[in-house]
Amino acid sequence: MKVTAAAASDIGLVREGNEDSYLTLAPLFAVADGMGGHRGGEVASQLAVETLERTFQAGQGELTDQVQEANRVVFERSVTDRQVAGMGTTLTVALVEGDRIRLAHVGDSRAYLLRDGELRLLTQDHTLVHQMVLEGEISEQEAQTHPQRSVLTRALGVDVLVEIDDETVAVRPGDRLLLCTDGLTSMVSEEEIGEILREVPDTREAAERLVRAANDGGGADNTTVVILDLSEGDPPDAGRSGATASAGVGSSPSIQGAVRPAAPEARPGAAGTARAEMRPPWRRIALWAGVVAAIVIVGLVGLRMYTNSQWYVGVLNGHVAVFQGIPAEVGGLRFHHVVVETDISAAKAETLALYRDLRDGITADSRERATAIVERIRRDVDGMQQVGESGTSSPPTGSPSPRSSPSP
Ligand code: MN
Repeated sequence: MKVTAAAASDIGLVREGNEDSYLTLAPLFAVADGMGGHRGGEVASQLAVETLERTFQAGQGELTDQVQEANRVVFERSVTDRQVAGMGTTLTVALVEGDRIRLAHVGDSRAYLLRDGELRLLTQDHTLVHQMVLEGEISEQEAQTHPQRSVLTRALGVDVLVEIDDETVAVRPGDRLLLCTDGLTSMVSEEEIGEILREVPDTREAAERLVRAANDGGGADNTTVVILDLSEGDPPDAGRSGATASAGVGSSPSIQGAVRPAAPEARPGAAGTARAEMRPPWRRIALWAGVVAAIVIVGLVGLRMYTNSQWYVGVLNGHVAVFQGIPAEVGGLRFHHVVVETDISAAKAETLALYRDLRDGITADSRERATAIVERIRRDVDGMQQVGESGTSSPPTGSPSPRSSPSP
């Protein structure tokens, strides 16, 4: 498959810096939308695409390994460099492999496929509101105007490890792939995006038209788009093939590149921020949104510091697992992540009264304690099986066995 690619990135009408970055290094393409005030956003998105580029060229692992490495590099920098503490970024990557495209995705940038005139969203936003839509709490329409619509539930560089959405899409000649940051999708409807992609055949012109549409719609955010047009022909070389340059430095001449001094704006960490409303007065609203976001962020950072010191044993995919954090979920925001998933059946453990509340999490104040609880569950579950096998009596589902509290 032959790939013709073009990118365009613009600061927009409100922001003081462009914190988006992109990569067009055929067959590897990416967009990243940095966050984290001052220099953070710019550094995070650039560091992410640079690391991706470096690890890809070095042939270091699979695509998801390369994204994970980008996460590690951004995270490490954010904890060692005070100026960019708490920064993070979205990252949406497309790797063209013959007649397939591999996608790796974290955050609320998006990938779309235009095929036979129809526009299809390939990625899921890792935002609070999208989670609320999935859980049926609010409608798709409510999500579009929800005050927390830009709060991210997942971002690159805010923790040691990041969960990456990973997908492979079969493509054919005539397909057009769009990668874009939320500056586009928050200003331009999907209908209009589809229209532009259908009506403007030239790759570069289409990219520029999309950015212009975002600015016409208010330009409240930085906007970055990368378009790939797939046609019959040789696969692109692994390396630099024609189209463009990398990491925001070689953007189209008529449109600003992604490298600019960043705005002193509060949008740090996994917390995200409320972006400016789509009507004037821009600056006042943006300022207040910034203040509210800053308060939320301080709270979340405090909470994160607290939760990182907490442990519990719970259930993952039907198995007993050790988590770091607290077994809470507020409005779809999780305050924990999995550390170890065991092979112990959670259903079996839960038939023992002692572990009846396993699903809610059995808390522990250290990893060692959590591991000890897991070992005890393992022993008890094994014991239960032996009792069952030896034909005596398997414990009735309900409340057999010891009643002491499992938590230390
Ligand atoms: Mn953005």
